Amino acid sequence: MAETKLYVLEKLPYDLSALAPAISEQQLTLHYTKHHQAYVTGANAILEKLAKARRENTDLDMKATLKELSFHVGGYRLHALFWENLAPAGNGGGGEPQGALLKAINAEFGSSARFKKEFTQAALSTEGSGWAVLTYCMKTNRLLIMQIEKHNVNVIPGYRILMALDVWEHAYYLDYKNDRAKFIESFWTIVNWDEVNRRLVSHLKP
Ligand code: MN
Repeated sequence: MAETKLYVLEKLPYDLSALAPAISEQQLTLHYTKHHQAYVTGANAILEKLAKARRENTDLDMKATLKELSFHVGGYRLHALFWENLAPAGNGGGGEPQGALLKAINAEFGSSARFKKEFTQAALSTEGSGWAVLTYCMKTNRLLIMQIEKHNVNVIPGYRILMALDVWEHAYYLDYKNDRAKFIESFWTIVNWDEVNRRLVSHLKP
């Protein structure tokens, strides 16, 4: 059996100041070291609570515990995917999708302009705290945009996340106040399309 592990806050693939001005150093520092870290800590704490109850053979409020676990693991994982699908503008970030990703986008949406428009609208209209994500369906080989509320509501099982955008207020409020639209506009300048393409290719059947 493989060694069991806890969740860890993975190192960012760039400096904390590297995404400015789209995401300022202060905004990224807070988001990554406080918010993302909190989901890692939260997920591990719940795993420990489960382990303790098993050791002592005590009962847990299973519904509440599993709900909390799903929230924290979802938060941990979505943030990791989000950081990895960003790169400094002009240095891996921005531009247009290429390769297999562009083909899949054209097949599903007609053009990358149409895809960007739909994704922007999805991100803008996500209710409360949540995410817009581009996903790939392993059954139909099609792309689908998903709105995830909180970190775990509206998730469709079996869809692989190719690109994530955090639209919780904590993701942009320091830089953009209540202007989520402006944040989303800046997001397009720091998308790491190579990484999004790499994720898609890793799911395609040979
Ligand atoms: Mn966040």
